[in-house]
Amino acid sequence: SNSLMAGKRGLIMGLANDKSIAWGIAKACADAGAELAFSYQGEALKKRVGPLAEQLGSTVVLPCDVGDMDSVEALFAELEKTWGKLDFVVHAIGFSDKSELRGRYVDTSRDNFLNTMDISVYSFTAIAQRAEKIMAEGGAMLTLTYYGAEQVMPHYNVMGVAKAALEASVMYLAEDLGKDGIRVNAISAGPIKTLAASGIGDFRYILKWNELNSPLRRNVTTEDVGKAALYLLSDLGSGTTGEVLHVDAGYHVVGMKAVDAPDI
Ligand code: NAD
Repeated sequence: SNSLMAGKRGLIMGLANDKSIAWGIAKACADAGAELAFSYQGEALKKRVGPLAEQLGSTVVLPCDVGDMDSVEALFAELEKTWGKLDFVVHAIGFSDKSELRGRYVDTSRDNFLNTMDISVYSFTAIAQRAEKIMAEGGAMLTLTYYGAEQVMPHYNVMGVAKAALEASVMYLAEDLGKDGIRVNAISAGPIKTLAASGIGDFRYILKWNELNSPLRRNVTTEDVGKAALYLLSDLGSGTTGEVLHVDAGYHVVGMKAVDAPDI
């Protein structure tokens, strides 16, 4: 435990359970002294998120479906009323119909394309718009992306296209908000077994492949991602914005991936 984040207030969006990347980030921030608020997608998740928030001493637990702008508006209005200011926000949200996270990208439907872009890309910009207004003293915003934005990964399909757009929006947001002392970054995490990841075809195979081929010869954990998030969200990251930081055990630098995963 340290005091890197003492006196800082942050909103964590995208906590579903204790396997969520949002949980690894929340724990690292709380451990460093941050005061946290959480948003959850729907009533069903409230009973999961409430007790987890409580474990980290947080009592601010609010609903927000990012597909509904009234809901986003209400979240930030409530946060402004409760806290007045915000120092950081974590966007750990993504969605695509799992029937299109397998097979060919070329077969993507327009409906799922638009919904994937809305929930996984536009939502970060919508949040940045509102968060900016309550970051009077500057702040930090963070989103989560994946290597499928840069290179073709099996089954990632429309989500890869969405992550490429998300990474581009990190650059544009960083430029717009930088003059107000707000930094905007992304972490490109290696594969981690979460609820969202379980919707991706052959995910167990992808995990094994990454473990065998990454320079560190292992997969990353939500704790690894949490520590990198702490750097980007705290004063340690004061000179860093518009960045996509890979937390993937080095997988992205390997040009010649040679070790095949055994049958699983
Ligand atoms: P997760 O299932 O734990 O979290 C995904 C979250 O998105 C859930 O809390 C869900 O409620 C939320 N969400 C989906 N639609 C929403 C909506 N309309 N409104 C509000 N919230 C909504 O899975 P995760 O793997 O922790 O995912 C977090 C982020 O990390 C995602 O952006 C994902 O793409 C990204 N990511 C994951 C991996 C991985 O391998 N798990 C790798 C790189 C990046």
